[in-house]
Amino acid sequence: MKIEDMISANRADCNGCAACANICPKNAITMTRDAESFSYPKINPELCIKCGRCDATCPALNYVKNNPTDFPPTFTATYPDDKILRHSSSGGVFTALSEIILREGGVVFGAAFDKNWRVFHTAARNFDELEKLRGSKYVQSQIGDVYRQVRDALKSTQVLFSGTPCQCAGLKHFLGGDHENLLTVGILCHGTPSPAVWESYIDEWTRRNDIAHINFRSKRNGWGSGIEINFFNRGFYFLKLNVDLYGKLFLYGLFERPSCHACKFKYPNGQSDLTLGDAWGVTRYAPEMYDSRGTSIIFVHTPKGKKFFERMNLRAKQVRFFDAANGNIPFVTPLTADTRRADFFADFTAAADKFAVMEKYFAQDDAELRKEIFLQNRRTFKRSYRAIVASVRQKFTENILVVSPFADDAKAFLIDHFSQTIPNGTLYFLRLNDKDELICRENFSTLDLPIKSEVAALNDFAKKYNIVQVVANDPLNLNAPAVAEWLKVCGLPVQVLAQV
Ligand SMILES: Cc1cc2nc3c(=O)[nH]c(=O)nc-3n(C[C@H](O)[C@H](O)[C@H](O)COP(=O)(O)OP(=O)(O)OC[C@H]3O[C@@H](n4cnc5c(N)ncnc54)[C@H](O)[C@@H]3O)c2cc1C
Ligand code: SF4
Ligand code: SF4
Ligand code: SF4
Repeated sequence: MKIEDMISANRADCNGCAACANICPKNAITMTRDAESFSYPKINPELCIKCGRCDATCPALNYVKNNPTDFPPTFTATYPDDKILRHSSSGGVFTALSEIILREGGVVFGAAFDKNWRVFHTAARNFDELEKLRGSKYVQSQIGDVYRQVRDALKSTQVLFSGTPCQCAGLKHFLGGDHENLLTVGILCHGTPSPAVWESYIDEWTRRNDIAHINFRSKRNGWGSGIEINFFNRGFYFLKLNVDLYGKLFLYGLFERPSCHACKFKYPNGQSDLTLGDAWGVTRYAPEMYDSRGTSIIFVHTPKGKKFFERMNLRAKQVRFFDAANGNIPFVTPLTADTRRADFFADFTAAADKFAVMEKYFAQDDAELRKEIFLQNRRTFKRSYRAIVASVRQKFTENILVVSPFADDAKAFLIDHFSQTIPNGTLYFLRLNDKDELICRENFSTLDLPIKSEVAALNDFAKKYNIVQVVANDPLNLNAPAVAEWLKVCGLPVQVLAQV
C-alpha cells in the first residue's frame, strides 16, 4: 500500500510523524494541514520520481508489533535540584538525561515554542538552549527536517531525541533502525491537540497582552497544578488544567489528532529506549517517592536505556510495572475521543470566532459527559491490558489463580489469552468456585478483605492445584496493590505476579 492510499482509506493511520517527508530524496513531500489543522503528507507529482522510499519508511505502513518476554523495569525518580524540578513537568528526568549527552558534547532534540507560541522540534547544544525544550507543550509539535538533522549529528556525536512515541518511531524508521550514538526518549503520551485550536486559544491571550512565558504544567500550587501564562507587564494567568478552557477540553479528548484515538505506539509497541511520564498514584505504591514538586515514572525498554538510566544523577526507586501503569492509562491505552469531537470540528472550522466555539463547548454541562468518557476509557483500558498480558504471556507458564473483584471480565480475557496458549496451564477464578467451595466474600476490596481463615482456604486451594502464580486483577480499582499486599501479609505461599 502507498501512504496516499493509507490516508484516504483511514486518516487515523497517519500520525503526522513526517518520516516520509524527511526521507524523500526530491523534497516532493510537504506536510500540509487538513481542515482540523493536523499535518498530513502531500506529494508533488511533478517532483516525485516514484522511488517508493516514503512508503518503505512510514512507521504506520510498516508497522510491527513488539512481543516482549517481560515487563520493562520501572522506576520512580526525581531530579535532585529544586529549580530544575520546579521547571520540569514531572520529576525532571528529561533534564538529567540531557545533561549526560550535553556534557559529552552531544546534541538534544525536543519540542520548543517559537516566538508566536507555535510548537516545533529543534536542537539544544548547550545547557542554556536546553531550557526551551524543558516542559510539556500540549499541542502537536512540527518535526520539520529534524530527522535529517539527527542523522547528520549522529555521524559525529551522541544524540538524544525526545518526542511522542510516534515521533520516536518515525525517526527510527527514517534512520532504518537504531544507531549506536542515539538515545530515544518517548514521552508518555495522552495525545496531541490540533495546532489550530491551540493557536486560537493563545492568540486570544496575545491580543489582550504580550506573553513572556507559557507553562502548561506550572507547579505554582504543586505538581500537576495548572497552566500558567506570564505577561511582559508582570501580570500572569494561572488556572488548574481541568478548569482552564484549553486544558479541560484537551483532557476530554475533544480536539486531539485522529491517530491518537487509535494510537499504534502504546506499550508494548513503542520504539524508544525509555518512556518518561508522571508517577501518578505514587503515594499508593511508593509513598516515600512522592514529591510535591513532581515525581517521574521511567519505563526502561532497552539495554541502552538501562545504561543511561544507571548514569543519571537521580533519587530513584524501582517499582512494580503494573503499579506504575495503573496510574497512567495513556501509557497503554489510546485516548477515547470526546463524543462531541465531530460536532466541535464542524463548528470550529466554520466559525469566524473560533475562541467562542471553544467557550461554547467548555460551558456545556459535563457531569454526564465526564461519566461517559470515564466509562469509555475504562473499557478501552481493559482491552489494552488484555493485549499487554497477551504479549508477555511467556511469563504466565503455569497454573494461574485470578483474585479479582472483576472476576467475570478477568475470566473472559484470561481464557482468551492464556488457556489456548498455555497447553499445560489451568486458570482458576476466585469466585467461580461452587464446585471447589473456595470461600471468599463477594465484594473484595480493602474495606472488605477476606479474613485470614478465608486466605487459609485460598492457600489450601493453591496447594491442592499446584498454583504458582496469582494475578490480582484490578486494573482500575485503586485497591489492587493493597489486595496483593494483603494476600502476601496473609502468607499466601504463591507468587503474586502482578495486577493486570
Ligand atoms: C502532549 C503530551 C501529552 C502527555 N501526556 C501525558 C500523560 O497522559 N501522562 C503522563 O504521565 N505524562 C504525559 N506527558 C509527559 C509528561 O508531561 C512529561 O513530558 C514527561 O514526564 C517528562 O517530564 P520531565 O519532568 O522528565 O521533563 P520535561 O522537561 O518536562 O520534559 C519535556 C519533554 O517533553 C518533550 N515535549 C514537550 N512537548 C512536546 C510535544 N508537544 N511533542 C513532543 N515532545 C514534547 C520535550 O521535548 C522534552 O523531552 C505528556 C507530554 C506531552 C507533551
Ligand atoms: S516516491 Fe520517492 S520521490 Fe516520490 S514522494 Fe515518495 S520518496 Fe519522494
Ligand atoms: S511517515 Fe508518518 S506522516 Fe508520513 S504517512 Fe506515515 S505516519 Fe503519516
Ligand atoms: S497518542 Fe500516539 S499517535 Fe497521538 S501523538 Fe501520542 S504517540 Fe502519536
